[in-house]
Amino acid sequence: MGQLTFEDDCLIRELDSRYYGFLDLSNSKNAELRNLVQQTITNLQNYIANGQAHESKNISDNKNAIQKFEPSTQAGEHMENTSSQINDDTKPFEQDAKEKVPIIEEKPQDEHYVNALCKLGHLHLLLGEYSEALSAYQKYLRFRENNYWTNHAFMYGIGVAYFKLRCFKWAIKSFQELLYLSPNFTCANEVHLRLGLMLKHCGEFHIALKHLQLALLYTYPSTFSELQVKFQIAHLYEVQNKHKAAKDGYEFLLNEKNISLELKADVYRQLGWMYHCVECLGEKKEREANALNFLQKSIEADPKSGQSLYLLGRCYAGINKVHDAFLAYRNSVEKSEGNADTWCSIGVLYQQQNQPTDALQAYICAVQLDKDHKAAWTNLGILYESCGQLRDAYACYLNATKQISFQSSLIRKKQAIRMKKDTIGLSKGLSQRITFLEGQLSQAPLPSITSKRRQLCSIEEAWNLPISLEMNSRQQQTAQMLPRQVTKQSPVQGPPPPYPHSQLSQSPIPSKRIKEDGTGQQEVTQNNSQTSAQNLINISESLNQRNFNAMPESNKSSEQSVLDTFDDISNDIYKQNESIKLERLSHDALSNNEDSRHDYIGGDNADLSTTFKIQMDSKQLMAAVKLLPIDEPPVHCTILQVNAPPPSPPDCPPQKLTRDQLLPPTPSVHLENKKNAFSPQLQEFCLKHPIAVVRGLAGALKLDLGLFSTKTLVEANPDHSVEVRTQVHQSPDENWDTSQGKRVWACISHRSHTTIAKYAQYQASSFQDSLKDESDKGFPGSQAMSDSDSKDSVSNSNIVLKRKKHKINSKMLRFGTNVDLSDEKKWKPQLTELQKLPAFARVISAANMLSHVGHVILGMNTVQLYMKVPGSRTPGHQENNNFCSININIGPGDCEWFAVPDAYWGGVHNLCEKNNISYLHGSWWPVLEDLYKENIPVYRFIQKPGDLVWVNAGCVHWVQSIGWCNNIAWNVGPLTARQYSLAIERYEWNKVQAFKSIVPMVHLSWNLARNIKVSDTKLFELIKMCLLQTLKNVLHIQEYVKSKGVEIRFNGRGKNEASHYCGQCEVEVFNVLFIKEQEKRHVVHCLSCALKLSPSLQGIVCLEEYRLSELQRVYDSFTLHRTQGLAYTQ
Ligand SMILES: [Zn+2]
Repeated sequence: MGQLTFEDDCLIRELDSRYYGFLDLSNSKNAELRNLVQQTITNLQNYIANGQAHESKNISDNKNAIQKFEPSTQAGEHMENTSSQINDDTKPFEQDAKEKVPIIEEKPQDEHYVNALCKLGHLHLLLGEYSEALSAYQKYLRFRENNYWTNHAFMYGIGVAYFKLRCFKWAIKSFQELLYLSPNFTCANEVHLRLGLMLKHCGEFHIALKHLQLALLYTYPSTFSELQVKFQIAHLYEVQNKHKAAKDGYEFLLNEKNISLELKADVYRQLGWMYHCVECLGEKKEREANALNFLQKSIEADPKSGQSLYLLGRCYAGINKVHDAFLAYRNSVEKSEGNADTWCSIGVLYQQQNQPTDALQAYICAVQLDKDHKAAWTNLGILYESCGQLRDAYACYLNATKQISFQSSLIRKKQAIRMKKDTIGLSKGLSQRITFLEGQLSQAPLPSITSKRRQLCSIEEAWNLPISLEMNSRQQQTAQMLPRQVTKQSPVQGPPPPYPHSQLSQSPIPSKRIKEDGTGQQEVTQNNSQTSAQNLINISESLNQRNFNAMPESNKSSEQSVLDTFDDISNDIYKQNESIKLERLSHDALSNNEDSRHDYIGGDNADLSTTFKIQMDSKQLMAAVKLLPIDEPPVHCTILQVNAPPPSPPDCPPQKLTRDQLLPPTPSVHLENKKNAFSPQLQEFCLKHPIAVVRGLAGALKLDLGLFSTKTLVEANPDHSVEVRTQVHQSPDENWDTSQGKRVWACISHRSHTTIAKYAQYQASSFQDSLKDESDKGFPGSQAMSDSDSKDSVSNSNIVLKRKKHKINSKMLRFGTNVDLSDEKKWKPQLTELQKLPAFARVISAANMLSHVGHVILGMNTVQLYMKVPGSRTPGHQENNNFCSININIGPGDCEWFAVPDAYWGGVHNLCEKNNISYLHGSWWPVLEDLYKENIPVYRFIQKPGDLVWVNAGCVHWVQSIGWCNNIAWNVGPLTARQYSLAIERYEWNKVQAFKSIVPMVHLSWNLARNIKVSDTKLFELIKMCLLQTLKNVLHIQEYVKSKGVEIRFNGRGKNEASHYCGQCEVEVFNVLFIKEQEKRHVVHCLSCALKLSPSLQGIVCLEEYRLSELQRVYDSFTLHRTQGLAYTQ
């Protein structure tokens, strides 16, 4: 057992995940430290092993080791403290030992044991041993289920381990929570960068950009250069097909003097490939010349880049320079071992040269390297078919369409969304071929197929050919192999490269079938999209490799298997945690002491957070804030309760529902007259249910719905702007993927703009067409208007729905949404008419929280209009910040609604995640059966003209029009504890997700405190808590800013001035604004972002919106109003 000296001990105790990337233990200079770390790991492992072996007789030796590590782990925590002390709410606290009992039976584990696990994780991480690190961290997590979020170095470490092992979902979760809890974390810039890379990889481009830009702001030390981040941003534009922005970004980098050779190589490679692929970058000839030029420059800058050589080969093949193409491919194979794309392209080239055997071998290499390589399987199928070996062709096509392993399917699905055109063409051709071959094979008697002497060996034989195994075994061998095997094996008489040009018409592939494929050229099957997906990964990997000085990376396939294993493990862990949670709950219930944890926190740790209570007056609050440390900046405050964990989607209610309960009847009420409409029972009824339909409302109130008819709207404001969503027409309870022929959640909804008059024309002609359509089944409406300003819109010709059983021609439709009716001058008669509604449903009323915001939030406290043709879809969502909404159908057609009670939103969220689609940002249309399987109930009902639908707080819903109709909608916020708490919860969860909350809840809460009297205890406490937390934060920030010697200037607020959001991270900024001039604009920042720009706050102006005395007055005079019912002052 190695003994550590005091110095070693001091050194080791310093080390944790935050050194990752900064401390290169693989460097020989650090050999001594590396040995020390390895020795420590051994000691820790022994200690932990003994800890698990219960009462081992022989632990005294190891106990010494433990004692050694006791100070070190605590020192680690102490360091953690200093970085998190700023936020007293998240200060680490000692955990009740009892809580650990259920996890490892019998032996109560002490702090040292648990902390040793975390330390072990850190040290493995620093050595680049990611699986070992993750394993240790996950064990630590089991013990810290209830307070892991107080250990930020742990959250960072486990996030990095997940990231390196490509468990992006978990890495994203850890990092998002870390930034939520500690935006000033030492490695926050590293976190932003990795979040940016992963979200880019997952197709969440908007948020990815936000994180990459935030990573650029920091002045902290970082493992990446500013230029590398800018390269990532340019690449982010490229994958979104924003070619101009991408090209500008890349060219900007080339003009930088201090650009590294590696980065230069990356930039040239991307530019070269863009010139090859992107038509809008000029004439084809010129583009090809540019492409070759840039790729050659890339290779010059980094001669080891197999990727650039491969792409160069593709460019040469594209202009029929076969010899050069072969040379480039061969060089690429030498440089980057085992690249399936390269082998696939080599196969294509051979096939075009009429050398089927060589092509076969190349394809086999590709599919053996990547069993899910769709393009290679497809090409192999084409090859077999051209040689008349239908059975083999059939097998290959099936492989090409087969559903594939998680990771690659994820990448390709995302790519499929972006590269619709290619994928659809390919898949359509494929399924046609499969059907065709099925027919052929079933009709043809077996012998007739096999009797002919086969030109190629069968797929089974080829798969087992030693040659193909050899081919990809080692790079040197492969390099020699290629020419040799060409001469030796090729039955077709063709010389080794260079090859004589052969025309495509001479190729063995019947030209007829190429047309049928819809792919036109075989080139397509090389799958450009995939190449860019590959680039995406390569780039993020190469970025890492460079930074970390080439820590040995496991090769791709083994990494994949590691990933698979760890995905399972992490799921298991989380499952285990669930059971642990249950045990803990029952434990608490037995002891009947729910507050024990809180008492404990407030115990000898003297956690200041417990001294902040809503019972304090403002003077006490100020005195308590003076005691808070100001050596570190305060972080954004949470406005949830004290010591809350980071918000996350809730579990679904556990009660198992019967089939009937999964399809509950929709709460509905029919109004006879005006008296009904104004009865308090109606409001009560609505507030009681997740969703309710109020039938006959327009009739009862004699509302003139005609004011919202298309005809009237056109007469009133023909040029008014309409947002258009281009969608596929599908039946309401179905959502099909156009290329895969199966039910999915992701739903196509491309955005563009038009005017009311033009949309009206479309709506009318769509109706006219449908009348004609009765007799002949054509495509009504979809071509009636050109989609002028919508570049990303999928044109009609590209979408032909292919389904396995029922063939239905889908049509595209255009849905006119979010027509803004806020302008009181433009829409006076319409808005006046809506004042006939009962108060609880009105756009503006004293009982509506949103009327207290004090400024317009478009579509929330103003009216929006929707103009629909049949099939128009509002995809699934909850309202902004979980507010209630009102929706009235103007008619003449009906709408169909689907709704899930708010308690189940976590379940819907998880299903979105499973389907790789963003709950907050994505367009999704739930597959009903998926919901039922997860025990999630769904309301389903028809909204007729004149019916009002009340969507209660947090209800998840999605809507499709059945006929031609218009709808009007807005949000309301009843003054209830439920509405307020759901709004606040979402406000906080949005922060975790870096999603902007468009309702400024802090600003709103202060206005509510000024304007209303609250008699509901729960609502009062929630609002008061928000006031307490924000006032505390304001005071703390002011103390901190003063300590930096920065003056705070009173600025006040203009009338109806909108509330402020941080120009960088988009959190609401209340009262203390940090202003910096950026590009001649004065941009508001939160404190954290201001500190990123300027750690000393120099050059930043600090403004105050309210006098402290005013906030104190509002805070102190907001008290519980002791009367029955709600009372308002106006
Ligand atoms: Zn910010």
